[in-house]
Amino acid sequence: MVAFHFQSSSQAGWRCDECRRQGLEVRRRCGWLPAELRGPRRLVWARGRASTEECPKSLITPQSLEWMERFFAWKFAGDRRLEELDARLADAFLLLEAEWRKGANDEHKSS
Ligand SMILES: [Zn+2]
Repeated sequence: MVAFHFQSSSQAGWRCDECRRQGLEVRRRCGWLPAELRGPRRLVWARGRASTEECPKSLITPQSLEWMERFFAWKFAGDRRLEELDARLADAFLLLEAEWRKGANDEHKSS
C-alpha cells in the first residue's frame, strides 16, 4: 500500500543519495541506517491512508515493486485472470484496486 501511494506521488526529494548528502537520513529514519542510529519513531511520510515511520524509499521492497508492476500489467494490459494468481498476489491486487478506485474518486472530488 505504501508502495502504491509512493509510486503515484511526487518522489522528488526522496532520493536516498540526496537525503544522505543533506543529512536527512536520521530524521527520515532511513532503513539503510542501523536502527540505533535512526531518530526517534515518528511519522516520516504519509499520503492518503498510507503512512510510514521509515523512509519510504528503503521501506518499499523489490517484491512490492514487482507486485505493483504486475498489478499495472494486470489492470492495463487486459491480463485480468485474477483466479490464476496465487492467493497472496490476488490479495495484494484487490487492495491495490481498492486504493486505485479511492484515489480516482478523491481526484474527481477535488477537481
Ligand atoms: Zn532514504
